[in-house]
Amino acid sequence: MALNKTNKISKKLSIQNKLIIINMSVVIITLFFASTIAVVGEYRNQHDFFLKSIQIQAKIIANNTTATLVFKDKTGAEKILEAFTVSPDIHSATIYDDFGKVFASYIKQEKTNPNNKYDNIIKSIQGSSNIFNNQFHINESIILEDEPIGTLYIQVDTSRIYADIFNYLVYTVIIALTCLIFASLLLFKLSKNITRPLLRLTELMSTVIKNDDYTIRIENHSEDEIGVLSEGFNKMLAYIQVNDERLEHELSERNKTEEHLDKLAYFDVTTNLPNRHFFHKQLDQAVKRAISSNQKMVLLFLDLDNFKTVNDTAGHKTGDLLLKQASSRLTGVLRQNDYICRIGGDEFAIIIENVNDISDISTVTKKCIEILSNPFELDGNIFFIGASIGISICPDDTSTSNDLLINADMAMYEAKTNGKNNYQYYNHGMNLKHSHKFQIESDLRHAISMNQLELYYQPQIDSNSDQIIGFEALMRWTHHENGIISPDVFIPIAEKTGLILPLGKWLIETACIDANQFIDSGITDFTVSINISGIQIRDKSFIKNITDSLSSTGLDPRHLEIELTESTLMDDSDLVIKKVNALKKLGIKIAIDDFGTGFSSMSYLKSFPVSKLKIDKGFITGLPNSNEDTAIVRAIIAMSHGLNINVIAEGVERQDQVDLLKELSCDMFQGYYYAKPVPIKDLIK
Ligand code: C2E
Ligand code: CA
Ligand code: CA
Repeated sequence: MALNKTNKISKKLSIQNKLIIINMSVVIITLFFASTIAVVGEYRNQHDFFLKSIQIQAKIIANNTTATLVFKDKTGAEKILEAFTVSPDIHSATIYDDFGKVFASYIKQEKTNPNNKYDNIIKSIQGSSNIFNNQFHINESIILEDEPIGTLYIQVDTSRIYADIFNYLVYTVIIALTCLIFASLLLFKLSKNITRPLLRLTELMSTVIKNDDYTIRIENHSEDEIGVLSEGFNKMLAYIQVNDERLEHELSERNKTEEHLDKLAYFDVTTNLPNRHFFHKQLDQAVKRAISSNQKMVLLFLDLDNFKTVNDTAGHKTGDLLLKQASSRLTGVLRQNDYICRIGGDEFAIIIENVNDISDISTVTKKCIEILSNPFELDGNIFFIGASIGISICPDDTSTSNDLLINADMAMYEAKTNGKNNYQYYNHGMNLKHSHKFQIESDLRHAISMNQLELYYQPQIDSNSDQIIGFEALMRWTHHENGIISPDVFIPIAEKTGLILPLGKWLIETACIDANQFIDSGITDFTVSINISGIQIRDKSFIKNITDSLSSTGLDPRHLEIELTESTLMDDSDLVIKKVNALKKLGIKIAIDDFGTGFSSMSYLKSFPVSKLKIDKGFITGLPNSNEDTAIVRAIIAMSHGLNINVIAEGVERQDQVDLLKELSCDMFQGYYYAKPVPIKDLIK
């Protein structure tokens, strides 16, 4: 218990106090023993000397009194005894004859010694203790011719020796105390020399912790252990500072990238206009505002005429330039409060709120068509395009944003069929059948049964071995009249109409059959990636479709990979998490498609068992010249690897892109540089 308490107190004490306590204890013990030895030694010396001198005096007096005893000269004897008056310690002396009778005696006249201020103290000590017996006696025989003729009896008083010893003790204590005071002063000063650097070190440490400032250093002049400690501390701070700065830099880079990715989630890179994602949100809100404020709101659906020709003849780069110029021309004729968004390849949507006079809309629409009818000069060539615009009014035509969009789209289609470069207001007479989308939809319904759909496969390459490690299944539709229709056109329609469900079922089954064909042709280590849209994964038969296809084809699930976009994962994510986990349980891999174009938040990836992340080709196109794209791709790869997720780059078209991607530790590649999507027969022998 006592030991525990001492330990507790000792823990609270500063090092300086501990040092002082230890050293002072040693000094006190040393002084105590030294003083005790000195006092005891002095006592013994004095005592021996005193005894000897009394014995000598007794002998001399005894010899001198022999004659007085022989001649019975009592007066002479007393005279001799009086010699003891010079010996203050002799209290009394008596001579006895050989019959034992008192012959002569001497008694010291008691007078207190004014010089001995300790007399009273000694006496009180003597009185209270038996140890200090202040008297003793000596018998000395008086001899004549070797025969004792009497005895000299001397009573000695020891008070003086004790007083001397006491004086000695007092001086010793004073000297010891003086030594103690000097020692403590010295100790205090010396211990400060030791503890000062330690204190500085602890103060510095608190400052570092408090201010989070790792640039501070301790000044070190000593080479002892504290010097070594200070140097080690400085080195540690330097190390932390470097790491801290690197981390800060990485963090700011990451924040910049995330900010950029966030922007990309809502903005179209080519035109810098808000994208489809942003548009849907704006449209929903604009419709709500129009209804609650009893105001009219108008949606213009604008599709460029002849854009495809520009893209096909002059290339995508020129196409992008045209889109940029077209969008800035449109922004120029619109009011500041109007929203313009790019919602598709060459499709723009314009939201105009608080419309009082519908004729104003015709004016704006005409201006848009006019401005786009002016020639475009791109890379030294002149291009003429135009625009067809469909108009739908809320709440006159409809009060839902979805219908407003369908209406405007139908009106636009009507404007196009009426000879392009004009506009058309939606009216209820416009039959859905007039919409080209309706046409596609109705054709799509029969596409599966008419064997018009086919899966093409695009190889995926491992960056280390340059070997094929997978194939992405991409749907192709060969229309009996229109030829090949791009999945970019028919997949959104299939999603909107629900046709994606039978289409998806067909896709899963075909992919499983084809995967078995890859195995049969001798390819063993591979995955077939299939694109699954949000509607499909939320469908209650989705998991069953997969298990049915797996069991009917006998395919090992490890060969199957599902590609999901970020927006699919984010929407309704509880249900999606369940489905994704069920797929994972089956042994099917999950890849995130088009990463960087959706929400692009790395944090949500942690909630999903994702094994692969596909960087959208929009970022790869800019490599290696665009610093911004390089920074984004670098950050995405670093962050994915941090989460143990492999990264594949999509849309790799050139060697310099491959070189940079390899340098950035990208794990896999997919793109025209290696192979375009091709029918399965082109891939197996
Ligand atoms: P995605 O999933 O991003 O597919 C990659 C697209 O990039 C494919 O276009 C592919 O042909 C194209 N591509 C590949 N390498 C390169 C390259 O080096 N340069 C360029 N410029 N493009 C490259 P595709 O086949 O036209 O597919 C377009 C989109 O349609 C796909 O984008 C996907 O979102 C969707 N899709 C295709 N097949 C299916 C499907 O079976 N189901 C679903 N739900 N969606 C599909
Ligand atoms: Ca894909
Ligand atoms: Ca993709």
